[in-house]
Amino acid sequence: MSKFMEVYDYSPALLNKVYASIDHESDRVTARCIVEHFADAGVRITVKHMAPGKPMAHYRVVCSAENGCETVIINTHEDDGHRNLTDEMVIQLRIDDRGIFEREDVFTPSVGRQITSAEDCRYCAPHCKDKRYAFTFNDRDYVKCHYYTASFRLKNLSDADTDCVMAIIDNELAFASRAAVTS
Ligand SMILES: [Zn+2]
Repeated sequence: MSKFMEVYDYSPALLNKVYASIDHESDRVTARCIVEHFADAGVRITVKHMAPGKPMAHYRVVCSAENGCETVIINTHEDDGHRNLTDEMVIQLRIDDRGIFEREDVFTPSVGRQITSAEDCRYCAPHCKDKRYAFTFNDRDYVKCHYYTASFRLKNLSDADTDCVMAIIDNELAFASRAAVTS
């Protein structure tokens, strides 16, 4: 039986294979921008080859902050939840510092919309009680499910959206290192 996934540490050669597997040039640019940012910061990058050798084969690049939290996961192809892959790259962005939602100028309309349209929490599980993800954005209150928003799913990112994502990532990395210092 073949493995469900293979896990590799970051190497430039492997990353080039990952970029080449992405269907859209704009997504390749975004992926490169994110990965190089984490590589420059000297934090951990892991590459997971999902379902290798299968029609569902694709890569997940996991970029972690200093404290070990998985800040960004780049999925080279979106899994539509019905055992199909789309041609769209989707990133999962973790936002632990909810203070960023007060800085509305950071967000592009598209990124703001994709974040606020994440699944609302309906007390999906007993777990949800203490872990609901509440925040205020553009004067509206949101309560999202932590099952979905442990990381927000974003796709179709324009150059401006990518800049926005990078600003959020910078904020998260700074937040994680502040937390590491005080704990
Ligand atoms: Zn929930």
